[in-house]
Amino acid sequence: MSILPITLFGDKILRKKVAKVTEINGNTVKIISDMFETMRNANGIGLAANQIGVNKQIFVIDISAVEGYESYKPIALINPKITAKSDEKSIIEEGCLSIPELRFEVARPKMINISFFDANMKEQTIEADELLARVMLHEYDHLQGVLFTDYLDEEMKKRSKKHLNKIKKRKLEIDYPVSDNTDYMLIK
Ligand code: ZN
Repeated sequence: MSILPITLFGDKILRKKVAKVTEINGNTVKIISDMFETMRNANGIGLAANQIGVNKQIFVIDISAVEGYESYKPIALINPKITAKSDEKSIIEEGCLSIPELRFEVARPKMINISFFDANMKEQTIEADELLARVMLHEYDHLQGVLFTDYLDEEMKKRSKKHLNKIKKRKLEIDYPVSDNTDYMLIK
């Protein structure tokens, strides 16, 4: 297993709708274990494959360190699809390993059904709510090229501009390995 650099806001792969996994093989298994290791090293609870620069529809989640969720097993989802969402929303503060030191409240469906393939190529469906649904929706968004900052209103976007540009320029001190990108455009 290896800890890989995490891509940051401004890296193009975070804005890409990533490709479906067509075959689950030894490489897929290695990517998944690297993702878990990279996520844990950064104290994250979810990580999408494009956050380590991999163009594949995979994300991993481990919320067992969060109080009240100790019994939730770590899980890897391949080619996930949201098949149902509740109309009821909950507002929860989110952060993102690709956008360090920025936390905002985001409204998202409270409950979802999600289907996916596991590492044994078995198709599964999970009904998730509360924190699990939240992390799954955040990670699912990553695979579509969507970031949680996309949900901010204009005022909040304006207020976070400076910080986001700092991330792009790698002027922020981050205590886990990150990609080094010199190909970015600053927000005007
Ligand atoms: Zn994220």
